[in-house]
Amino acid sequence: MTVNLLDYDREGLIHFLAEMDEKPFRARQLLKWIHQSIQPDFNQMSDLAKSLRTKLSESSVITVPQVLRDHTAADGTRKWLLSVGAENGIESVFIPEENRGTLCVSSQVGCALACAFCATGKQGFNRNLSVAEIIGQLWLANKLLMEAADNQPVLKTRSGISLAQIEQSARKVTNIVMMGMGEPLANFENVVTALNIMIDDHAYGLSRRRVTVSTSGIIPAMDRLRQRCPVALAVSLHAPNDSLRDRLVPINQKYPIRDLLAACQRYLLDAPRDFITFEYVMLDGVNDSASHARELIKLVRDVPCKFNLIPFNAFPNTEFKRSSPESIRIFRDMLMQAGLVTTVRKTRGDDIAAACGQLAGRVYDKTRRTTRVNVEVN
Ligand code: SAH
Ligand code: SF4
Repeated sequence: MTVNLLDYDREGLIHFLAEMDEKPFRARQLLKWIHQSIQPDFNQMSDLAKSLRTKLSESSVITVPQVLRDHTAADGTRKWLLSVGAENGIESVFIPEENRGTLCVSSQVGCALACAFCATGKQGFNRNLSVAEIIGQLWLANKLLMEAADNQPVLKTRSGISLAQIEQSARKVTNIVMMGMGEPLANFENVVTALNIMIDDHAYGLSRRRVTVSTSGIIPAMDRLRQRCPVALAVSLHAPNDSLRDRLVPINQKYPIRDLLAACQRYLLDAPRDFITFEYVMLDGVNDSASHARELIKLVRDVPCKFNLIPFNAFPNTEFKRSSPESIRIFRDMLMQAGLVTTVRKTRGDDIAAACGQLAGRVYDKTRRTTRVNVEVN
């Protein structure tokens, strides 16, 4: 059986190589070739013995999802639509900023958790992404960003460094947020293996602080993530009490707020950052009043945290509306005055529908078996 080497972290590669009587250090070499040199051709892997290269080409491949569309917005945000077979599509979004480049990565096709304000949730669950499909989003982003930088004219600055080189470093992925389509902790093993590759010094070497998993609050999986691969954590809170959260984020009926906050406290014992980021989608007239803000402030009193307010991004047939800029400002100011660091998420790439909740992965809609539809996903 042919294996895709993008499915393996270092441990997986060591195991795979051992079956061919190859030494563990070969795993490090392979990781470097695959993820750092972005080299999919075994024949070009010059420091591997010829016999190993032959064995690898007979047993394995290095393949990533095919790019169906590639759009760049006016603000530099770049969005790729990737094919993951059976007419399923997923999207990744690259958000360049002055001193970092963040890639928003998907973990599932669709999502089973059915949050009321989320188009992916409305669409239902199709399937988990494989490790190769998750890490392939990063592999592809770096490759395509590097190619774009290589195509820049080579001009020299006074210090002798080419502008293309500066551009190149500015346009590589430096941060990951697992905030694309799907619930990462519902695809636990594949996500953890992909995280291992992201933070491995022989692969992407990203610090755990620069890799963020966003979850709607699957408590047992949060505890397992803490033990297996503690990275930065964002929790989708969205409501200050159980009755409202039960409605907006139905998984709350199973894992209510009090237990969720206790899980956040436990997570912080091993987390690379000393705070949890709470995401809070701003829904007009639903969760955005001054009394909601007061309730929220009381609720998180004992949890070291920061808030990220996300203006709701609408999609067809949604019952919700985005809060007004004025209510978002008042809400933010109340949290800030209570000592909570609060940011309002900028809507990036909205001219190419790349903002949170606007991604348009094509998903096979299981509720309408004969049609394939364009849906919006977060
Ligand atoms: N499933 C995970 C991660 C993906 S969603 C989670 O729920 O945390 C990333 C963020 O986008 C979450 O906070 C999610 O609640 C939010 N989101 C979903 N739909 C949105 C929409 N239509 N507008 C704004 N934010 C949305
Ligand atoms: Fe799933 Fe996250 Fe959307 Fe909820 S918000 S349905 S958990 S992707």
